[in-house]
Amino acid sequence: MLERFLTQTSFVSEEDFEKNLHFKIPENFNFAYNVMDALAEERPDKLALLWTSERGEEVRTTFKEFKEQTDRTAAYLMSLGIGRGDKVMLILKRHYQWWLSMMALCKIGAIAIPATHMLTKQDIIYRNESASIKAIICANDEYVTTQIQSAMSESPSVKLLVAVNSMSEYDKPIPEGFHDWHKEWINAPEFKRPENVNTNEDTMLMYFTSGTSGEPKMVAHDYLYALGHLTTGVFWHNLNENSLHLTVADTGWGKAVWGKLYGQWFAGAAVFVYDHEKFTAEKIMRQIEKYHITSFCAPPTIYRFIIREDFSKYDLSSLEWCTTAGEAMNPSVADKFKELTGVTIYEGFGQTETTMTLGTFPWVEPRPGSMGKPNPQYDVRLLRPDGTECEDGEKGEICILIGDEKPLGLFKGYYRDEERTKEAWHDGVYHTGDMAWRDQDSYFWFVGRTDDVIKSSGYRIGPFEVENALMLHPAVVECAITGVPDPIRGMVVKATVVLSDEYKDKAGDDLIKELQDHVKHETAPYKYPRIIEFVDELPKTISGKIRRVEIRQKDNKQ
Ligand code: ATP
Ligand code: MG
Repeated sequence: MLERFLTQTSFVSEEDFEKNLHFKIPENFNFAYNVMDALAEERPDKLALLWTSERGEEVRTTFKEFKEQTDRTAAYLMSLGIGRGDKVMLILKRHYQWWLSMMALCKIGAIAIPATHMLTKQDIIYRNESASIKAIICANDEYVTTQIQSAMSESPSVKLLVAVNSMSEYDKPIPEGFHDWHKEWINAPEFKRPENVNTNEDTMLMYFTSGTSGEPKMVAHDYLYALGHLTTGVFWHNLNENSLHLTVADTGWGKAVWGKLYGQWFAGAAVFVYDHEKFTAEKIMRQIEKYHITSFCAPPTIYRFIIREDFSKYDLSSLEWCTTAGEAMNPSVADKFKELTGVTIYEGFGQTETTMTLGTFPWVEPRPGSMGKPNPQYDVRLLRPDGTECEDGEKGEICILIGDEKPLGLFKGYYRDEERTKEAWHDGVYHTGDMAWRDQDSYFWFVGRTDDVIKSSGYRIGPFEVENALMLHPAVVECAITGVPDPIRGMVVKATVVLSDEYKDKAGDDLIKELQDHVKHETAPYKYPRIIEFVDELPKTISGKIRRVEIRQKDNKQ
């Protein structure tokens, strides 16, 4: 499979990789036909998907079976009236049918819009309207279907609703107004591949950003986006045919297509899925042990909970390669994980708008706390506010320079939002909105989102550094650093802290003093948090990211 795109498939250095960068991009590239179906042909009996659930279900699907099932799904959806360019929202949690729908829509040339099951009626109306959604395929979950039903009177573009039961409850009644996937899918007509499905520039996928800093933005990706993830799966996740990969991500989060779909299959690896409602470290660790998962990717928040488990209860020896992205990884957490498992965590940085932008690829020796080096597919620069380039050691914004051609994997723009697109992408530069500095060996170190950086008494303080210092104290499980307006200093540093069980009853002035002294000792004293608040949990997005904006808003109201 890889030979189709790369002339060389093993890389020991960045230079080596760079030389091979220019993939042979086929015309009208379509991941479902050009990769999935090709795999079904080349390796019919190879495991493609190992899908399990906390309801005890387990399905092993080969590439050949997967092709047949996606053909059937495409035929089914076409028989319901879905065609090229139609927008279809998928609120499917981690149900098996999410994978079928994603590939089937690709085969039809329809646009998939995965979304989280936590959307309210208003969220659904907003999305239906802003994207002119034609159809919604959702989990037959009472909350989800109720929200959709109540949104319908204000959603004139939506013509079709399909509800999907989980496998073990396939005959659960389907609510009024929804098609019953399980009953109808089985009787789908024969699939006939439509002609002229897509061009490389057509929109294949739209994803909402996580909403960490504000309202989620709708990101439009073309068909080449999938090809951009070859790097994610083959190089960053370091997968091959023998790998079994688990990325922990809700399907409503862009990270799902980083780790549960495209890149993994380029490598011919098997994707592991655990369909569960609420995350616990224990559940995930049990799956790694039971199914001998070899490659694991999760946002830092999940590692923060995993390292607090009793490792004597689990055998995680199957793990060969671990990765993280989505937030900054605290070095203390990566170190502890390595101590417990012997496995190094390879960090990556990117956005819903991009594929891997910076990362510790196999040829990059990880430096704990650093995001790694630029993906050679992007021309990554650190820029000052006036657009000039930063020196080594100087903090600046992570930007991508766009030459004559849009780099593979970069989004087309925010859907129907020219203003926001222009704000982020103008004069040939895409601005990530994230601040970092670069050391003399070209490693990038995260400082914070531009909005999260605190200006206090003339200093610019990146939350990540202070959070890392606090995380080194045994009392701290998680924390968020924010600025609180102050008449004299402009801003003062505040820490919102979740304490470990052993320290919960010690929350008080003495512990505050101890944590402040600890930070002054670990980092430059001017950064220490003058205010510390203890909380049971931090406000987070569905993808588990800390919403510092919510803490700030609460503090500003008081
Ligand atoms: P929104 O744009 O709606 O506020 P979001 O930016 O969190 O949400 P995503 O696209 O899911 O939405 O996340 C991308 C962001 O995640 C990056 O811009 C960056 O702030 C953060 N991020 C990703 N990887 C890393 C990393 N390795 N280190 C630090 N931050 C990271
Ligand atoms: Mg963002």
